[in-house]
Amino acid sequence: MPQDHPAPMVSGPDQDPSPDYLTLGGPSKGLHRSSLLSRDERLAGRPNLCSDCGLCDSWLQRDMAKACVFVRNRAEAIERRVFGRNRRDGDELRFGVFEQMVAARMRRAVPGAQWSGMITTLGARLLERGVVEAVVTAGTMPGTRFAPRPVLARTPEEVLATAGNKPSLSPNLNLLDEVRDSGIKRLAVIGTSCQVHMLRAAQDRLGLERLDVIGFPCSDNVAYPDLTFFLKQVSRSPDTIVHYEFMQDYSLHMRHEDGSMERLNFIDFPMDKLDGIFPSACLSCFDYANGLADITIGYMGARLGWQWVLIRNQRGAELFELLRPDLEFRDLDAAGDRRRGMPRYLQMLAKPAGKPPKPIRRLIAWLQRNRGPRGLEFARAIIEMKMFRNLHHVRERFARFEPRIVPGFVYRALADYEDAHQEAMGRPIHPTVEPARTPEA
Ligand SMILES: Cc1cc2nc3c(=O)[nH]c(=O)nc-3n(C[C@H](O)[C@H](O)[C@H](O)COP(=O)(O)OP(=O)(O)OC[C@H]3O[C@@H](n4cnc5c(N)ncnc54)[C@H](O)[C@@H]3O)c2cc1C
Ligand code: SF4
Ligand code: SF4
Repeated sequence: MPQDHPAPMVSGPDQDPSPDYLTLGGPSKGLHRSSLLSRDERLAGRPNLCSDCGLCDSWLQRDMAKACVFVRNRAEAIERRVFGRNRRDGDELRFGVFEQMVAARMRRAVPGAQWSGMITTLGARLLERGVVEAVVTAGTMPGTRFAPRPVLARTPEEVLATAGNKPSLSPNLNLLDEVRDSGIKRLAVIGTSCQVHMLRAAQDRLGLERLDVIGFPCSDNVAYPDLTFFLKQVSRSPDTIVHYEFMQDYSLHMRHEDGSMERLNFIDFPMDKLDGIFPSACLSCFDYANGLADITIGYMGARLGWQWVLIRNQRGAELFELLRPDLEFRDLDAAGDRRRGMPRYLQMLAKPAGKPPKPIRRLIAWLQRNRGPRGLEFARAIIEMKMFRNLHHVRERFARFEPRIVPGFVYRALADYEDAHQEAMGRPIHPTVEPARTPEA
């Protein structure tokens, strides 16, 4: 989700707006509660920052301090273990370690998929071929359109039924209990970047013979009630939205039940009303591109209508081969120059400005679409902006956590903006306290 300035930390427990759902049947341990409550009381006793990844609902709760990205970001140690190296200078600082990057899409889109359905097709194929015994994925809570429900899929059909985003926090890792109890030894996990971090950090304790990790880029996730609040602020008819996405053309596209499309430019978002909906965990997250997965499948580095795929290691290449026969390809490209707008962005981060008048907003939207960063440059721009915004959030709200939760690659990725940062923030990008060296994962 786009954001011009940091949101304040949400405080105090929210009311559960949907008590009916609490009586729904479903998996144990109150999964429906965890995804439907805004400020879940279950988070009591957890770190100040928590994205409700589900690990603490599982038998691995006792390993939380060793696995949780918000206790200590272990990304660089995990990179060395999983990829044999850390990020190289250049695009890897923003996108994570990768061996290959492509733009592709399914020749025939999966019904109900978020984009063309590459992720659910891959999960289904792993089951069809007997490569894995189960896939961790996120279905939909009965009676809702967008509330997630963690699902341990055992058949290709069960994976395909989970196509499409449920764009709110989903405690998928609590399925690790069911994985252990069912004796599953070969597992695929589809997840957000934070889930993948916790999973990788705990991987050695899972007793698995094989683990395939399919990630998607993730940023500014929200709890489900905040998602419904968000849709009310941005749509003329929030209840009829069946699909929406933050597009590379700098606007939010919302498709309604009757097939009509509604669009809202990012610059027209009512940011004053959205303050506080983003959890502090998501505002303290530094792995937009899901850099610890074997393969990341998103869209933001590709042109509109296409998916962006980062193949990170040999396992990721094997996974991609399973999809290749169903894919069509186009070239990845880049246009615009993200560096030109960054000084202004930093100034707005330091001193949030009010919304400009409508004609100016129209002009800005046109300039963004036609002259702004596009293709890979769009992905670089958005990731760098989120790194800056989240670094700023951590420094304002959780300053003493910075050495533990901000990984070293963030400072390297942003180093070119040192002068602009110094001017806007009156301090260097690099912390005055050296980041603690991460113990090997
Ligand atoms: C909260 C969120 C934010 C995202 N932000 C970006 C972004 O900024 N840039 C970008 O390039 N891509 C982003 N994505 C990914 C993108 O929207 C698509 O999901 C991705 O490109 C895959 O498309 P697909 O058609 O192949 O997926 P599909 O085949 O439709 O499969 C989607 C998969 O995502 C899983 N899923 C859905 N919701 C959740 C959830 N809440 N938690 C865990 N798993 C879930 C589903 O279970 C399914 O396995 C985001 C996804 C989510 C859920
Ligand atoms: S983010 Fe996950 S591991 Fe961290 S405290 Fe929350 S549930 Fe536990
Ligand atoms: S934005 Fe980061 S912390 Fe929030 S759900 Fe996505 S990966 Fe997790």
